[in-house]
Amino acid sequence: MMKWLRATLRGDPCQLQLDFEGPPQNAEQLLARLRALGLKGITRCRLTRNRAVMVSFSGRELRIHEAYLGATPEVLEAIVAFVCGRTRHERRAAQRIILSFPIRAPLRTPVRRPGRTNEEDEALVRELMYWHAEYNARYFNGMLSTVPIRISRRMRSRLGQYTAASPYGEPAEIAISRAHIRRHGWAEALHTLLHEMVHQWQAESGYEIDHGAAFRAKAIEVGIAPHARRELRAAKAGRVVSPHELLLRAARQE
Ligand SMILES: [Zn+2]
Repeated sequence: MMKWLRATLRGDPCQLQLDFEGPPQNAEQLLARLRALGLKGITRCRLTRNRAVMVSFSGRELRIHEAYLGATPEVLEAIVAFVCGRTRHERRAAQRIILSFPIRAPLRTPVRRPGRTNEEDEALVRELMYWHAEYNARYFNGMLSTVPIRISRRMRSRLGQYTAASPYGEPAEIAISRAHIRRHGWAEALHTLLHEMVHQWQAESGYEIDHGAAFRAKAIEVGIAPHARRELRAAKAGRVVSPHELLLRAARQE
């Protein structure tokens, strides 16, 4: 890190020349740095402030959270490995390094509040915590950590959502929609809980949080529907290829 902060004087002592090791200042410089570290196949880089997306790429475009402008060389190398890694093992190792770099929450986005649950909902939370422990023992060998569960009165089309611990220092949580419990009943709510627990398992095992192959295999193993949506409408024509993203969050949708 010190190397990055060091400006070197060369030639004319009045001319302060930053050496190439200085931190990149914008998307173009960041892309140049990543290419120097071996990044291939990417021709455009955009900086984002979306607090749930750290790194994402699709086609030739790479999107990176702006906080990574200040990342250490090790983290930049991990971003290259995340994009270009050939094996799941390489990508998982890279993900761990990327997420371990502490970043500052963008100023304009409010920091998530700790579970503010209505008193009426507390009995539901206790029941969900009970089932979380039960499912953890039954399907995950008790390996998942205990995370706060919150009942959301605002989630409508989202039925449940898992949010991983963020590099901003916020803890992981599972949120379940109160409207979902009311409309679809307790069995469906437990299905959603288990769905979010599979995302928790992804996060805690170093997988990407998504509805990809690892999610589907684990969902089938624990006996739930391996889809993002509760009910699958008639299959749409043409398969959408999902981009690779290093997300902190995934939700089960209506
Ligand atoms: Zn999901």
